[in-house]
Amino acid sequence: MFKKSIKAYEKACEVIPGGVDSPVRAFKSVGGTPPFIEKGKGAYIYDIDGNKYVDFVQSWGPLIFGHCDRDIEKAVIKTAKKGLSFGAPTNLETKLASEIVEMFDNIDKVRFVSSGTEATMSAIRLARGVTNKNDIIKFEGCYHGHSDSLLVQAGSGMATFGSPSSPGVPADLTKHTLLCEYNNIEQLEKCFEESNDIACIIIEPIAGNMGLVPASNEFLKACRELCDKYGALLIFDEVMSGFRASLKGASGILDIKADILTFGKVIGAGMPVGAFAARKEIMSHLSPEGKIYQAGTLSGNPVAMAAGLESLRKLKKNPKIYDDLNKKAKRLLNGLKKIADENNIGFQTNSRGSMFGFFFCENEPKNFKEVGNCDFKRFATFHHEMLKRGFYFACSQYEAGFICTKITNKDIDACLKAAKEVMKNL
Ligand SMILES: *Cc1c(COP(=O)(O)O)cnc(C)c1O
Repeated sequence: MFKKSIKAYEKACEVIPGGVDSPVRAFKSVGGTPPFIEKGKGAYIYDIDGNKYVDFVQSWGPLIFGHCDRDIEKAVIKTAKKGLSFGAPTNLETKLASEIVEMFDNIDKVRFVSSGTEATMSAIRLARGVTNKNDIIKFEGCYHGHSDSLLVQAGSGMATFGSPSSPGVPADLTKHTLLCEYNNIEQLEKCFEESNDIACIIIEPIAGNMGLVPASNEFLKACRELCDKYGALLIFDEVMSGFRASLKGASGILDIKADILTFGKVIGAGMPVGAFAARKEIMSHLSPEGKIYQAGTLSGNPVAMAAGLESLRKLKKNPKIYDDLNKKAKRLLNGLKKIADENNIGFQTNSRGSMFGFFFCENEPKNFKEVGNCDFKRFATFHHEMLKRGFYFACSQYEAGFICTKITNKDIDACLKAAKEVMKNL
């Protein structure tokens, strides 16, 4: 059933490291060969062997309206016909920035970039430049892209100093990244007590890169208070949760406000877009207004802006979409949970708006370490068996899943029927 994909993968491996341009696509954590995708339509993707899948990945989040949404497609084609890039200002950038600024009362200005990685990297530079401090705090299990300062793991010696999680990242750099446990207030307080050089906390307020693990309200409140007390800035990385968890992302369902927000994924509707945003007092430090340098040849690319703009306008016009997405996520998760219970399989679920996650374990994980204790073998089997039956889930228990507006209850019920078969033998 995967004959052509297996061949395509072998060929890709000859000219692309590991056959992929982003590691998670290689199916390493579940084993096997990734299907090569031919096309998508609505809730479905089709691979080059002709298999059809209900897509619960949606390009890892960006496609809240599914594949080939007619309005977005139209906006993209119309804009593309006028030229792909100018390296000069266009009204589309102002329009998309205005749509975003209008939504959040804690931001006045937006700068566009081309990926989530760039957004968080630039947000950190901004925070460091504004506060004139060097250290940053990040949490285990939160992913903020692959820039040097953010590729850290727990150091072997001291509790909080991060050490590089990848060769090629200088330890001199990551020593400025202090690593704390997610949802652990005590550790965070200690971190602030030990360093007087903290520029910012960067956090996924709803973590979607260790499965779906939301931060507790108390924890986020502590983040806010400690930043205020020590003169640091709070960055909410909403690259995944933005326009996903709710129309206003995590910020829309929390009463804690960040100083800087980062966006990606949905903001580009499948085109490469990222952004960071803050109050004008902070953003005015950015070049060319201020001295903190940040740039990009393709930043604010018109075609990408058109896609994002159409997507956000559609979401704003019909905010009820979120009730519907939420309900569908719950239908899927409650269904899976029931089946797992019937089969005595430890299973935990979580969802926020159109983001969801599930874990094969007895208790709901609250941090990265607890996620690591889940049953990964069981997950791998579940993943493969569901794939064979036409349901495309993220290929790692560390990844979240996504519902798009084109997924129907019928798709979900078909998925549950397949899961019933699969879980019986899990
Ligand atoms: C995906 C993601 C990023 C990185 O975005 P890229 O576009 O892959 O560079 C950063 N932060 C979060 C929370 C993400 O989910």
